[in-house]
Amino acid sequence: MSTRRKFFPLNTPPSKEKSESSAKGVDWSDFRDHIATAERDGRRKWIYPRKVGGQFFRWRTWFSWLLLAVMFAGPFVTINGNPLLLLNIVERKFVVLGQIFWPQDMIVFAIATLVFFTGVIIFTAAFGRLWCGWACPQTVMMEMVFRKIEYLIEGDAPRQRELNRAPWNAEKILKKISKHGIFFALSFLVGNVLLSYLIGWQPLYQIITDSPVRHVTGLTFMILFSLLFYGIFARFREQACTFICPYGRFQSVLLDENSIVVAYDHKRGEKRGPLRHRQKSGERRRAGFGDCVACNQCVAVCPTGIDIRNGTQMECVHCTACMDACDTVMTKVGSPRGLIRYASLNGIERGEPLRFTPRLMGYCVVLAALVSILAVMIFTRADVEVTLLRAPGSLFQKMEDGHFSNLYTIRVVNKTSRELPVELHLENVPGHVLVMGGKLVVPPQKLLENSVLLELDPEGMKSGTTQVEVGVYVGGKKLQALKTSFIGPRN
Ligand code: SF4
Ligand code: SF4
Repeated sequence: MSTRRKFFPLNTPPSKEKSESSAKGVDWSDFRDHIATAERDGRRKWIYPRKVGGQFFRWRTWFSWLLLAVMFAGPFVTINGNPLLLLNIVERKFVVLGQIFWPQDMIVFAIATLVFFTGVIIFTAAFGRLWCGWACPQTVMMEMVFRKIEYLIEGDAPRQRELNRAPWNAEKILKKISKHGIFFALSFLVGNVLLSYLIGWQPLYQIITDSPVRHVTGLTFMILFSLLFYGIFARFREQACTFICPYGRFQSVLLDENSIVVAYDHKRGEKRGPLRHRQKSGERRRAGFGDCVACNQCVAVCPTGIDIRNGTQMECVHCTACMDACDTVMTKVGSPRGLIRYASLNGIERGEPLRFTPRLMGYCVVLAALVSILAVMIFTRADVEVTLLRAPGSLFQKMEDGHFSNLYTIRVVNKTSRELPVELHLENVPGHVLVMGGKLVVPPQKLLENSVLLELDPEGMKSGTTQVEVGVYVGGKKLQALKTSFIGPRN
């Protein structure tokens, strides 16, 4: 469960009883042997993190407002008429930063995804789970929105405990109904925002305003997403980070002793012990004590219920709450802040700054290679993609002028931001191309599908099947040559 042993020496070595008791069951004296959110009988242990305040919390609050504004405004922002982000899996339509990725571009999309994940790996190897604490939507919504509403209605951790233990009276009913009512309304909002990133805000607006019978699937998803988010933020909470999110688990293999993480300075903090009245710092040192006054404030504020003094643990989402809590305590007792701070093991033990290790270098080489491949693919990506397929089940026809015709379906994807008039010409056989409905004019960033009739002069035809080459021209410039077969009579 924990990466603690690998990086930080234990303050208290695992008890001898561990080996004896491990055969019987869980060793409750060893934090590695159980999770902080489970009771001895296996039931969920509800975490009541105390309200936190401090410099990091203030910075995180401002940053969260920015992220929330981006998240809620995102579906309405367009670039060149396309959404900022759209991940329509059902229709296989993906838009990132206004750039449409068509099914034909899936390889580009796949490489871009690899670049993203390699970037995440490098970032995590260097800076730990900075993402989780500062930018993950789960943490931002939970700690900056839902938790704050909970504090507002039910009070700080001790008041919440008290309320939950109290019998059901008018005050408790009112508080619980208000809290869960607001939680559900917010979950509905978050569910709709997610839906608008999946299908776009216009279709979502239609689902909301049209008759419900016309949008049963859409409404079902709307309700499912609302219930899902309500379940996560009202009940599941930190369990989502501990059990569901794979990123936390990757931490164990990505971090090393040079990674910057939220860390307790055990060299400075140990041996921990309560601060005696009027005890001076020098006196305390001589008595063999460190700066940790064993106030447990770092544990009380932790939303995942862990004790960071045990070292880096998988459950830690790097929310900085323990850093703020400890800084407040250190200020009060007159010791320097930063007993819990962003630091690496080597930083704490040897005072080393962040180093560009061979492992990081290796990751960067892989990232550079992937970025180069992606850049080449993007810059050499065809502006227009055309496919020409014979209409299924259709036969050849003989025209009055003696020509033979075959019916085809043409699909043109215009990836540019301008309208494209497309012309088709037969390249290797005499005849002509007839586009149904006149000209092929493809709007910007759109796909156009049309029927096309190829009429071949019998002079150039072979018995049975003739291989035909159709040139695709835009503004007189040949963009592509399409090869297809033309069915005619057998001699
Ligand atoms: S908040 Fe700081 S001083 Fe208090 S127990 Fe935690 S590490 Fe020690
Ligand atoms: S240990 Fe500290 S940083 Fe990690 S989750 Fe708990 S409070 Fe947040």
